[in-house]
This record gives sequence, C-alpha cells and structure tokens, in this order.
Amino acid sequence: MKILVINCGSSSLKYQLLDMDNEALLAKGLCERIGIDGHLKHQPQNGKPVFDEDVPMPTHTEAIAAVLDKLTSAEYGVVADMSEIGAVGHRVVHGGEKFAASVVIDDAVMAAIEECVPLAPLHNPANITGINACKQVFGSVPQVAVFDTAFHQTMPGKAFMYAIPYEYYTDLKVRRYGFHGTSHRYVSGQAAKLMEKPIEELKLISCHMGNGSSICAIDGGKCVDTSMGFTPIAGLPMGTRCGDIDVSIPDYLCQNTGKDVTTITNELNKKSGVLGVSGVSSDFRDLTKAAEEGNQRAALARDMFAYSVAKTVGAYAAAMNGVDGIIFTAGVGENDAEMRADICQYLTYLGAELCPGCNAKRGGDRFISKQDSKVKLMVIPTNEELVIARDTKALVEK
Ligand code: AMP
Repeated sequence: MKILVINCGSSSLKYQLLDMDNEALLAKGLCERIGIDGHLKHQPQNGKPVFDEDVPMPTHTEAIAAVLDKLTSAEYGVVADMSEIGAVGHRVVHGGEKFAASVVIDDAVMAAIEECVPLAPLHNPANITGINACKQVFGSVPQVAVFDTAFHQTMPGKAFMYAIPYEYYTDLKVRRYGFHGTSHRYVSGQAAKLMEKPIEELKLISCHMGNGSSICAIDGGKCVDTSMGFTPIAGLPMGTRCGDIDVSIPDYLCQNTGKDVTTITNELNKKSGVLGVSGVSSDFRDLTKAAEEGNQRAALARDMFAYSVAKTVGAYAAAMNGVDGIIFTAGVGENDAEMRADICQYLTYLGAELCPGCNAKRGGDRFISKQDSKVKLMVIPTNEELVIARDTKALVEK
C-alpha cells in the first residue's frame, strides 16, 4: 500500500509518499507561500527530475491538487494514478486529552480536533485545513490523524499537573501535554532494537534537539515525563523559544516596557532562545561558527543549551530512578557532535561514558558511548513521517 503523509502548516505543506510494502520513500516535497502566491518543490526518488517552480496556490486545496498532479505526472511522477494511493496520514499537533493514539478521521474525530483549536491556535487550524483539502481532492480515500501529543498521554498526574488552582485544569484544560511525541516514540523504539532489549525492560531518555527541542523520559516504552508543557514554549531554551523562565517575567516586562502581553509572548516565542541570547542566529551552525570566531554571546547560548539538556536528563534519570540509554535526535542531536560531547560531559556521574571516536562518526542508528559504558549513549535519526505512515497503514488495514 502506498501512503501519502501530510504535515500542514498555515502557509506550507510538507509531504512524503511511501511504499509501505517495503517502507521505501517514493517522493517528497514542500508547498510554500500557500494563500500568498505558491511554490512547489517536488523531489521524486526514482531518478526523475526535481520540480521547483511557482504554482498558484490560493488555498491548501490547490496545493494538494498540485502535489497529486506531480505525483502522477509522466515527467515527475512516481505512481500511474491516484488510485495507487491507499491512504493519507496527517500530522496533527494537538489531540488534547482525547487522543492517546492515532485514529481514522471521521466527523467525530474532526469535531474533537476542532475542540483542541484553543490549545493550539496556530497549528490545529492548519491541520484541519489540510485534512479538508485532502477530502476534497482524494474523496473517500481513508485519512488518519497522528497526534504530536498522543505519546505523552501516559504521563501520570504528578508529571502533567501544574500546581495552580485545580479548576484551571478541569475547566480550561491547563496541564502539561508535551509535543514531538511521534519522534520520541520512534527513536525510543529504534533504541530498544539497537540495544537488543525489549523496550518494556528499558528506561530511556530521548533528547529531540532541533529548532524546537524537547526531552522525554520513557519507562518501559511509555512516556512518564516530558519537557514541553501546555505549549511548546516550555522546557529547554530553543532556536527562538525561551524555554522555562520565571512566570513573573512577562508581567515585569509589560510593566517596564509598555508592551502588551501578546507582544511579550511573541518575543518569548520568536525572539528568544539561542537567537535572543546570542543576537546571532537561531541556527546552531551559525552559533558554532560565531562562537569559534570569538563571539561570547554565541558561546554562552550554546553553553546554556547544553547545560539545560544535561539538567533535564538528570531530572529524568531521577524521575525514573535510573536510566539505561540516552538518545540524541533531530537536526542538532543528529549532526552536532560537539554539542553532544558538551552535554555528555555532565553525564559521567550516571555512568554514561562518551566514546569520542564514535561520536565523531556520521551514520544511521548508532552507539556513541564506550563499549563498557553502563548507560548507553545513542544517535538515532528521527523519522516522524515513517511513524505516521506505519500508523496509517495499521489503522486502514484493520
Ligand atoms: P530540525 O528542527 O530538527 O530540522 O533541526 C534544525 C536545527 O538543526 C538547526 O538549528 C540547525 O542548525 C541544526 N543542524 C542541522 N544540521 C546541523 C549540523 N550539521 N551541525 C549542527 N547543527 C545542525
């Protein structure tokens, strides 16, 4: 069965077409500037040329239609016609407390995703738009929703509750939800395979370090705590998000700058993190370069990130009363060997011993700890699209 995976943003749409008989990637691409003018980059994986041109996309429906046109075209295509696509899997950011697993989309599921809009006002409306556009273009082809929050629904109350008046939880659903769940689920499963142990017997800490970053404590294959919270701003300092700060700061800033809370919240989301501290960039490659050239603030931003990751790993080792394996993934986790080394300097007390030679090598799923390290250190490239396609296949075949 061939499955189309869709990750819809407000003005963008990422896609992959996978052949789930062998989990091979057939094509991938990105629509951008939807609703503005429109641009499609389509990359077939069968040797056919890349299409990289402006295409009018007044709405997501035209974007999906353009994607389907390219997937089936003689020049750029990878399938003969639409009937070869058996199902569509969608990344949906917020499933609230309703969804602890992926689901086939029907009217009731759509209504529940709508209900979660107040919890993810930027993301869920875009996801809903993408699903509706696919319904128009694909008709009765089954569609599946895979939620970023679902994996974290196993957290116990002591981890997901905030110590604020209880009615804010019952009436307004204010609690820790966590994000990047699809990534944490995938890499923890791969780590268990690499360690050749049943995941049920493992205590793992997964560090998803990209432009957005979160850490997850996974005990026996189940999430027991995670660093992102009610929204993705919580936890580690990120590319542009501040991570955990004293909650009095926004009010203090409003009073002393004359800015309103929306402006300050926007700054905390978009102008903070390593960008805010360094004044250089949200991109860790730029930070490393600037730090090497002597930029103290860029070096400080990198140090703050490494320190924050290490502190959270320590907290989660305590939360699980032990740890067997620590996983690094996503753009920084997979590629920035120096950052991994900086983090691991803090972790020797746990019995996690980095092998510098292994850490310097590139590749797929791999150990970067010394052979006799009590706690295994691993790099596992994440693959959220594959999880979405696997869930979609499993649900559609059921
Ligand atoms: P992601 O959100 O997972 O796509 O990750 C994006 C982040 O990964 C950016 O901050 C990039 O700078 C970082 N990144 C990607 N490649 C590298 C690399 N080779 N070295 C260091 N950081 C990288």
